[in-house]
Amino acid sequence: MKKWLLLSMALYSCNALAMPRENPVPGGIAHLPIAPLSAQAPLVQYEGKRVTVVPLDAYWVALVGIPLDAAGDQTVQLQGGQTLSFPIQAKEYKTQRLTIKDNNKVEPDDESSERIVREMAVQEQAKTHFTAGEAQLDFIKPVPGRDTGRFGLKRFINNQPRNPHSGMDIAAATGTPIKATAAGTVIHTDDFFFSGNTVYLDHGAGVISMYAHLSEIQAQVGDTVQQGDVIGKVGSTGRATGPHLHWSVYLNGEAVDPALFLPNKK
Ligand SMILES: [Zn+2]
Repeated sequence: MKKWLLLSMALYSCNALAMPRENPVPGGIAHLPIAPLSAQAPLVQYEGKRVTVVPLDAYWVALVGIPLDAAGDQTVQLQGGQTLSFPIQAKEYKTQRLTIKDNNKVEPDDESSERIVREMAVQEQAKTHFTAGEAQLDFIKPVPGRDTGRFGLKRFINNQPRNPHSGMDIAAATGTPIKATAAGTVIHTDDFFFSGNTVYLDHGAGVISMYAHLSEIQAQVGDTVQQGDVIGKVGSTGRATGPHLHWSVYLNGEAVDPALFLPNKK
């Protein structure tokens, strides 16, 4: 094989590696070619939220985060009032049953409920944060360890139906350093009722990652981080059955399966 051909194949595979896999299902990602690269980067919205658009091969491709409760054809809005519809496939997620000792974390009292409503608004802002520019899509797993709760699990906590699992749970001992999955900026740190000590990172162009239940936060809003920089330590703050990292990834404000960003995993 000619040398230039080998080189171009290597470049192509590098490009493909740093791209989340396409899986057009609830909680997955659709890849929609929108315009040729010779055109300006297009503005794409899904349910009023800005969508991540990346250059891939010869096109500007929209990476649409599909909500877990989505069903049937989905539609994105393009500039000039145009729309583009795309089909998704159904996906059945498994059920997980958990027991939480602190029942106020399962059936919150009035004061806690008010706190939860306030925090949801703050978290919504963090999830939908959009910074123009290039998206950093080369991801690593933030802590090594066994996955103990996959994304999308239908949850029953103390036998009560609750929201599906919006991230990946990785078992690790309290104090294990948590690494930034990719280069980015710290956009929010907080102590939330459910997710405990939490860090949000902005990886550009609407790609957001979130790390929850930390025993210690070691990052400050405004910090620039490189992939692998330590941003905190594993813990069990908030609503947690034990020490682990809960790791979420958001596209257009929707939680999508973080495994799609990691190599060799489904
Ligand atoms: Zn979790």
